[in-house]
Amino acid sequence: MITGGCLCGALRYRAEGEPKLQGLCHCRNCQRLGGGGHVGWLCFDEAAGTIEGPTRAYATTGGSGRTATRHACPTCQSIVYGTAEAMPGLTNFYAGSLDDTSLFKPTMAIFTRSRPAWDDSSRGLTCYETVPLR
Ligand SMILES: [Zn+2]
Ligand SMILES: [Zn+2]
Repeated sequence: MITGGCLCGALRYRAEGEPKLQGLCHCRNCQRLGGGGHVGWLCFDEAAGTIEGPTRAYATTGGSGRTATRHACPTCQSIVYGTAEAMPGLTNFYAGSLDDTSLFKPTMAIFTRSRPAWDDSSRGLTCYETVPLR
């Protein structure tokens, strides 16, 4: 199980079991939203997660060309989790929001085509220019 939440504590979550996938996303949207070279994410079945507190959703067109929605705390603006039209029934929690960040064990990096040279955090991970083929 993982638990986490936003900076101010108003938006909290927990998710049961183990993540289905976990990794880094280097897409431009994650860079702009997160203020760094990547965002870490842990992917769970939507049903495994419980979210408490107010959220504000912001939708963009993701790398897939379909809608990706980030859910943030309306007070402190932290992005806490995301959902994507291309990934129905799944919730991606952002690794920086974990209470215990050591639980995050990324295995892959996606959208490495937009990874900046100064961000070498995906060294040793399975890298995908965009996303793995399904
Ligand atoms: Zn907050
Ligand atoms: Zn991304």
